[in-house]
Amino acid sequence: MDAIEKCDVMVYTKIFLKFPYKFWPCGPEKEFFIYAHERRGYYTFWQHMENAYPGSNILVVTLTNGESKRVEAQSDHETLKEAMEVLRNMFGPDIPDATDILVPRWWNNRFQRGSYSNYPIYFNHQNFDNIKAPVGRIFFTGEHTSERFNGYVHGGYLAGIDTSKALLEEMMEVAMRKNESQAFLLEPLLALTGSLTLTQTDAVSGLHKCEIPRQLFLSSNKLGLPEAIL
Ligand SMILES: Cc1cc2nc3c(=O)[nH]c(=O)nc-3n(C[C@H](O)[C@H](O)[C@H](O)COP(=O)(O)OP(=O)(O)OC[C@H]3O[C@@H](n4cnc5c(N)ncnc54)[C@H](O)[C@@H]3O)c2cc1C
Repeated sequence: MDAIEKCDVMVYTKIFLKFPYKFWPCGPEKEFFIYAHERRGYYTFWQHMENAYPGSNILVVTLTNGESKRVEAQSDHETLKEAMEVLRNMFGPDIPDATDILVPRWWNNRFQRGSYSNYPIYFNHQNFDNIKAPVGRIFFTGEHTSERFNGYVHGGYLAGIDTSKALLEEMMEVAMRKNESQAFLLEPLLALTGSLTLTQTDAVSGLHKCEIPRQLFLSSNKLGLPEAIL
């Protein structure tokens, strides 16, 4: 509980604005522009979508945490007005109004409550162990359990691999403790964790994961397993 309480959740908001035509600089090595305002984080980071979606005439502005929460609490119309004022400060009064706006509300979405984990600097190795510690048969994973890359997609990906390995090891240990040869039940999980091999039970020792069903079939009498299961 202590580790969970220490985990803050950051809000990161990409607001999309669609225009009838482009009025911003495009071309090689031109994708981002930055607006300086006395208020920190006030419509600072802008990006056009021409490289990813040519002809879309879309601009994206990124807000974080305090500014994200402020904007989430107001109407999209109000946000559009603020963003247009900033753009007119940069590009002059003659630019067209945006025809559409999308304001994601990660903070107010009750299933999200933010965008990604943001740990304090004193969050240590033990805290990470605690936050992902299984509770009985329930295992936890996700970017917030990645000690090196929390907050990022690759953190989520790597944490998923680590947790599936831990889960697999636990299942093997339980099977061994019960002195049962149930390794074949792990085959679907192994298919998901391609880099893993089974090494810990007599029934499958030395076999590559793909060979397990065939080998179990051939030796099913020895294992006392009904062939129909295999
Ligand atoms: C606006 C924004 C921009 C970002 N930009 C970047 C970036 O540029 N680079 C980067 O690396 N990362 C970025 N991130 C962070 C990145 O998206 C996350 O770190 C990553 O998606 C986390 O992956 P995850 O698998 O841990 O969790 P999630 O992607 O949140 O996956 C969890 C899944 O579980 C599902 N779920 C939840 N509860 C249940 C339930 N009870 N039953 C069944 N399913 C359930 C959810 O629907 C969801 O699909 C960004 C995030 C946001 C919000």
